[in-house]
Amino acid sequence: MGKKDELRTYREKRRFDRTGEPRGEHAADGEAPPGEADGPAAFVVQIHDASTVHFDFRLEVDGVLKSWAVPKGPSADPRDKRLAIPTEDHPLEYLGFEGVIPEGEYGGGTVIVWDHGTYRPVSHDRRRRPVPFDRALADGHAVFELHGRKLHGRYALTRFRGGAGDGLSGEKPLWLLVRTGTGHGNAGTPDPRRARSARSGRTLRQVTESPDAPRWNPGG
Ligand code: MN
Repeated sequence: MGKKDELRTYREKRRFDRTGEPRGEHAADGEAPPGEADGPAAFVVQIHDASTVHFDFRLEVDGVLKSWAVPKGPSADPRDKRLAIPTEDHPLEYLGFEGVIPEGEYGGGTVIVWDHGTYRPVSHDRRRRPVPFDRALADGHAVFELHGRKLHGRYALTRFRGGAGDGLSGEKPLWLLVRTGTGHGNAGTPDPRRARSARSGRTLRQVTESPDAPRWNPGG
């Protein structure tokens, strides 16, 4: 499946004459998207003040951002199991999205980049052989090491309900995002309404009240 198809759901949900969110045009016209070099893959965690405030966790995989809504956000405490609900693939340009999605549009509300950085896949099979990351995700268990401004260390995403080969049940897949191993550091997750953007230092409220709020700022 081409990247154009992978982003079809993303595009169908949005009206780009109304929202400042990126269309993901690089993927559509076959150009290499930004960041899709041989370097490490990117991740972003956004805080999204939609109908309920939640975190969106996104990992760059094969030219798109695989995405999960994480209601409580990632925790650095290995005892916390955080529900992660898959959402549609997003374009790579969404790594830089911070702004206001207009009221009445899909996902209407303010978005800030809470954390961003790179990650390294570390999934292995029982014989300790590395597993390609897309296959690990398809199999429902992917382990990776985050190198962000706030999040550091090893995390796992594990599907515990539904799945690729589970179309008959009609159950929506659900995952858990868990810090693995012996981690410490900035335990827990800050109050999303007080948290500050890793890009701009701004809170949700400051972005909402900013005159240039509905802007997509891919560069800085
Ligand atoms: Mn969201």
